[in-house]
Amino acid sequence: HAKKSGRNTFRAYRKGMDELIEKRRALEADIERGLERGEFELYLQPRVGALDGAIVGYEALVRWKHPERGMVQPGDFIPVAEVSGKIIELGEWVLTEACRLAAGFPDNLHISVNVSPVQFRHPQFLDRIESILSMAEVSPHQLELEITESVLIDDDQRARLILGHLKTLGLRIALDDFGTGYSSLSYLSRYPFDVIKIDRSFVSALGTEETADAIVRTIIDLGSGLGMRVVAEGVETVEQAGYLSAAGCDELQGYLLGRPQPVAQVDAEISPTVAAELKRVARLSAHR
Ligand code: C2E
Ligand code: MG
Ligand code: MG
Ligand code: MG
Repeated sequence: HAKKSGRNTFRAYRKGMDELIEKRRALEADIERGLERGEFELYLQPRVGALDGAIVGYEALVRWKHPERGMVQPGDFIPVAEVSGKIIELGEWVLTEACRLAAGFPDNLHISVNVSPVQFRHPQFLDRIESILSMAEVSPHQLELEITESVLIDDDQRARLILGHLKTLGLRIALDDFGTGYSSLSYLSRYPFDVIKIDRSFVSALGTEETADAIVRTIIDLGSGLGMRVVAEGVETVEQAGYLSAAGCDELQGYLLGRPQPVAQVDAEISPTVAAELKRVARLSAHR
């Protein structure tokens, strides 16, 4: 009896696996078609100076306008695109499109692009970046690449060489989602980051979990001490913005400052009320 039920469980498991594999294959083919038919779009989310709320740049966040499924969020297709290798093609489209957009920006605004670890590890990664840059009429300092801690773990030497080369091309490098990976603090001094982005999870815990306040302060001091710009992600309330600004965080990003928007709808300024509040907090902390 036990044997039989075991067999049934296994059968159910196999069926589940088959369905999963089938779903994934369909999605892969779908991504390919989506690229051919121009179904992908970049949304832009502003990043602002913490003292005055002035926009300093935008993060490009990919969206998929699927003909049947509607708007698909990156969390639902980036992981599949990574496993299947489709992220290479998609990532090149994102980079090309981001460069095209940045070329139309004023010189003091940058655009920030997320680079998947799979892209980063691809043998042709540097060549592709160079050729995309040479085709676009964009100054390299207007392009920032966001990478996550996971790319630093496997191949220390290669990661360092690639990052160094990207720096010599004039690009800026940001360490995204800082605090969520396994990297040690020494990574920060070993690699040439210009920017470090404090993960949203710490920002949203500000004021509710005591440890979050301490962690955020420590990251800001560390990043600043190493000469990097420190950016907070996922800022949703004025209280969070005030705390971060007073603690010395350089830039803020989050729904409070602006949601990711289609390019045509992107605002050149943040809400006047929020900007005024940032300036008020900045004056207060300058007097302390
Ligand atoms: P990320 O790079 O950490 O991007 C920030 C994510 O947080 C975005 O989600 C953004 O919409 C969201 N966000 C921003 N402000 C707030 C806020 O105040 N509150 C909350 N709750 N969320 C906020 P999104 O657009 O869904 O992207 C998710 C992740 O997908 C990104 O995380 C990034 O890792 C990846 N991704 C997005 N676009 C690309 C891309 O073009 N290429 C690659 N390789 N990955 C991408
Ligand atoms: Mg990012
Ligand atoms: Mg992030
Ligand atoms: Mg993230």
